Amino acid sequence: MLNWYQNTFEEAKDWLRSKEIKPIHAKDVFRHLYRHQPLTSPLLPIQTELSIPELAIHTALVSKDGTRKVLFKLHDGYLIETVLMRYSFGNIVCVTSQVGCNIGCSFCASGLIKRQRQLTAGEMMLQVKMMDDYLQSEAPRSSVTHVVLMGTGEPFDNYEEVVRFTHIVTHPHGLALAPKHITISTAGIVPKIRQFALESLPINLAISLHAPTNELRTKIMKINQAFSLEKLMDAVDFYLAKTRRRITFEYILIDHLNDDIHHADQLADLLSNRDCYVNLIPYNAVMENDYRRPSPERISAFFNHLMQRGILCTVRKELGHDIASACGQLRAQYQHETQR
Ligand code: SAH
Repeated sequence: MLNWYQNTFEEAKDWLRSKEIKPIHAKDVFRHLYRHQPLTSPLLPIQTELSIPELAIHTALVSKDGTRKVLFKLHDGYLIETVLMRYSFGNIVCVTSQVGCNIGCSFCASGLIKRQRQLTAGEMMLQVKMMDDYLQSEAPRSSVTHVVLMGTGEPFDNYEEVVRFTHIVTHPHGLALAPKHITISTAGIVPKIRQFALESLPINLAISLHAPTNELRTKIMKINQAFSLEKLMDAVDFYLAKTRRRITFEYILIDHLNDDIHHADQLADLLSNRDCYVNLIPYNAVMENDYRRPSPERISAFFNHLMQRGILCTVRKELGHDIASACGQLRAQYQHETQR
């Protein structure tokens, strides 16, 4: 069956033309798909072709703080994780872009399963739509306001579908998310950062940095062998010059690995004079390795030192701890089932 969420607004128009229906009704199609608007007369004859697909829910968990984590089952049996987080400023969905991941970062549970296949834009849309429906079933006026591509997978290893997704999810007649509320996170695929700098959509870019030197970064992120910090920072400067948008650097803090004051100094040296901001993420321990989260004292010492050095930063607030909400954890628990 055709997954309607795969189509851009322009494609919906083309499709209507092929059915000899005026393309102006594309907005009714989108409002039907995304806003529960019933179909009206010109579209009724094609009603069956406009059937709304869903993702099967394998497991859904809700945390004490309201975070909801869903394991969806795709049509071919693969399981993917999607997380909904509630903040005072809005509702964020953390979207998965691939089944498994080939980047192979040593600390990350998502990469324990190699990439099995790419997700389509329609499958990414459905993750958001299903969370949006859930919010509306609780309170009619609540909706998804932000999307982060920080679930399983490397978005820039699935570039075309991810960019297509961002176009669909921001369309004014669809879910209509503000481009500035969408964030793509990459482990640092340099050519794609450059390509992304030239896209017309003003969405945010986050880069998983996690270490301030090549030596340390190569140890924990093997992608650094292909794209060194020098190459990465060149691409960052290109992006900053082209888009004039601030970049976010993610930096997980791992106990006694990358969290000493001298690391904070090296990080400040690397980032000073660049329009950026650092998101410090206290490491979420996973069973598969020995990395640990630093003590609260070490975390605040690192944060304070960066601030003193004039680098804008925040420490990410943790949600959903009681439901294994961290990266790949829930899926890892069901890993055997993904092997079809
Ligand atoms: N592949 C993309 C998006 C994936 S995950 C990327 O690398 O950016 C989003 C963020 O969570 C990344 O910064 C990733 O490095 C981080 N992450 C992975 N495992 C983690 C863990 N156990 N604890 C905290 N952050 C983790």
